[in-house]
Amino acid sequence: MKTQSAVLPIEKISILSSLPFFGVHLMCLAALWTGAHTQDVLVCVGLYFFRMLGLTTGYHRYFSHRTYKTNRVYQFLLALWGTLCTQKGPLWWAAHHRHHHKESDQPGDVHSPTLRGFWWSHTGWILCAKYNQTRYDQIRDFARYPELRWLNKYHLLPPIALAVSLFFIGGFSMLVWGFFISTTLLWHGTFTINSLSHVYGRQRYKTTDTSRNNWLLAIVSMGEGWHNNHHYHQNTANQGWFWWEWDPSFYFLKVMSWLGVISDLRVPSPAVKYAHLKYSPEVRENLRRPRFRKALVSQPVSEQASVGPPLSALLEG
Ligand SMILES: [Zn+2]
Ligand SMILES: [Zn+2]
Repeated sequence: MKTQSAVLPIEKISILSSLPFFGVHLMCLAALWTGAHTQDVLVCVGLYFFRMLGLTTGYHRYFSHRTYKTNRVYQFLLALWGTLCTQKGPLWWAAHHRHHHKESDQPGDVHSPTLRGFWWSHTGWILCAKYNQTRYDQIRDFARYPELRWLNKYHLLPPIALAVSLFFIGGFSMLVWGFFISTTLLWHGTFTINSLSHVYGRQRYKTTDTSRNNWLLAIVSMGEGWHNNHHYHQNTANQGWFWWEWDPSFYFLKVMSWLGVISDLRVPSPAVKYAHLKYSPEVRENLRRPRFRKALVSQPVSEQASVGPPLSALLEG
């Protein structure tokens, strides 16, 4: 019997159009020649967190979920900030993400690790020509702004400008550390939310998917690791709902609201936040034993989706 974990025939990694992605990874090796100067490493780490913040507060919490309001100028700056992450345009990113929430871990979810395997959910789907286009049907609200459509089309200009600036400021070693290594780390830091946060961690809330809360991923992603909270109620500006749930993206949003740049930050109502306290003992027990692992145990090894197809099987040709 065929399982849903099989990647569709049209879902192959396009080698040619993925060359820049592999090229950025390869360029990281240049650090073996340049060495690691303190200022270059600091720029690498600084740009990692600075750009992650743009991604979480802009591409994710604003464009994908509209969890707060702002003016048109800051809206554009958020889009511009997000493009520096080299993860395509704001409309492309947000539209695909909205679709993920609609179909989480269902056959239509293009990056479900439980259905399609780890590699596909982590990077495969991004490198697949089938998903290159912006799903305008999912993002009509923001697609009406011409400046966002323009930036969505020319999304590579800001990161190229960043790379060139780094080269002129600090030479080749700053380019390698500040752009290539920082961007590679940023990519994989972001991708873990699609892959690992649907596999490892705890489930506090009952959802129809495998989303988890994971403190380590919350550190890496500046607060996005509380993925079970987020899937349970996706329209809140905060994803860490309790004081111990590290969510620096929300702390930043709070400061911006005090400054008057943004407003109407949505937070979970007590009924949402404390919904888990009303669960029956059976439901609590079920949440303690994640469905993903249970499903694996009950499946024959050949059909286990956790491993997914080997990376070679995803390549074109
Ligand atoms: Zn998810
Ligand atoms: Zn989301």
